Amino acid sequence: MNYPCAAMRIGAQWVEHTAHGSRAVLDPASGEEIGRTPIAGPEQIAAALDAAGGAFDGWRRMLAIERFRIIARASTLLRERAPAIAATLTLEQGKPIAEALREVTIAADIIDFLAEEAKRLAARGVPPRSPGIASQTVQRIPVGLVAAFTPWNFPANLPARKLGAALAAGCSVIIKPDEQTASTCMAIVQCYIDAGLPAGVLNMLTGRPAEISQALIESPAIAKVSFTGSIAVGRQLGELAARHGKRYTAELGGHAPVIVCADADPQAVARMSVAAKYRNAGQVCASPIRFLVHRSRYAEFRDAFVAGAQALRVGPGSDAATQLGPVIGEHRVQEMQAFVDDALAHGARLLCGGQRIDRPGFFYAATVLEQPAAEARVQREEPFGPIAVLDVFDDLDDALARANALPYGLAAYGFTHDLKSAHRLADELQAGMVGINHFGISQPETPFGGVKASGIGHESGLEGLLGYTDVRLVSVAV
Ligand code: NAD
Repeated sequence: MNYPCAAMRIGAQWVEHTAHGSRAVLDPASGEEIGRTPIAGPEQIAAALDAAGGAFDGWRRMLAIERFRIIARASTLLRERAPAIAATLTLEQGKPIAEALREVTIAADIIDFLAEEAKRLAARGVPPRSPGIASQTVQRIPVGLVAAFTPWNFPANLPARKLGAALAAGCSVIIKPDEQTASTCMAIVQCYIDAGLPAGVLNMLTGRPAEISQALIESPAIAKVSFTGSIAVGRQLGELAARHGKRYTAELGGHAPVIVCADADPQAVARMSVAAKYRNAGQVCASPIRFLVHRSRYAEFRDAFVAGAQALRVGPGSDAATQLGPVIGEHRVQEMQAFVDDALAHGARLLCGGQRIDRPGFFYAATVLEQPAAEARVQREEPFGPIAVLDVFDDLDDALARANALPYGLAAYGFTHDLKSAHRLADELQAGMVGINHFGISQPETPFGGVKASGIGHESGLEGLLGYTDVRLVSVAV
């Protein structure tokens, strides 16, 4: 298929070329260049800020129902265009086409849910305590101009969470998607434009991430910063946001533990675990990584897990039969190898995978490591790829202590049919999202976010929308 080269959206214009050059986009399934993404310079960044600033007042004053109608048209267009957008997503990101199609339709659902909730952002009356005060009303108002930064692993879903909430709340936005996956974001922006979104309300820049984020966060026009990506970059942007007094939402990495209790069905849990682990080649922040299985069921779980991982059909995402596609780039293949080599040096047994797959593109085999030492990198750092770590436990206290031992706290999972164990897992796993007996924690209607080092604030769900609002108290004396 033809790859639609990304362009930047500034005000009412698509900008395809700048004096600052462009970056190559490589097809992860072949390693070949398929397109270019333009690089913004200071003049494009300034123009986007002007456009967003100029459009904000009209958008925030628009009746909520009118904003809703425009956004609802945009999500309808997104659904209609989902097959074509999914094909673009797979081409630039690599994930299997069925996953891409599901991601785009979920993105439309996310946008819908947030727009519906925005209609219900009702003011709250608080009874006055002094006779002279007639009313005290707590309102939700749009926070202002938003700078949003999204990574490459979910090129439709993550922009949908940020744009869906910010636009529904009445904010104007400048989004910078990852340069490798900007065409998917561009297609989403086009849906909003075709739906009648006023020019300037939504702008999109691409280029050198640190330059753009620094310029936007330092700009007095920007009120709120929203970032999804690594903890290291999230902290840098958080420091910058704090220095300039900006509101900040960050969805950062995780290192999700999975506790499989003695009463769970090891075969069934292993099947679900393989599907969850190798989805998007493991490049999912809520991906299960550390599997802690009760000793009495460990061998059964391990054998079923390894058989499932080895049976995954590997290929380009565009092939409908593919279950495991490439990782995003050569640097991630190298990183996977570094994690595996380090784990083997720390006593792990390699149960399958552990090497690059010999074919063009950036393919790394579904890898299962058994019992690396706690000091191994893979036990402490997010591999963000197709690597699973299996280990045993004897009692639940020990499993919980090991599950909670890392500074991460995004997602955690537990499998048991014992009511008491289920409640213990739900109460004691330190994570922003806990899945008991399933992995499907990320839904358009529910908040997505972490505790500990995994993030600040939430996206999706009502909480995601509220993050793009400020609270205003209006107290009236008569
Ligand atoms: P990275 O940290 O270099 O980049 C992650 C994303 O942040 C990219 O989209 C990048 O363009 C952007 N970015 C980097 N520096 C930035 C800056 N100064 N300002 C604004 N945006 C900036 O890492 P990577 O090699 O792409 O991915 C590696 C790690 O990132 C993974 O191991 C994983 O931990 C993390 N990651 C997390 C998520 C998530 O969903 N939480 C998504 C992608 C990557």
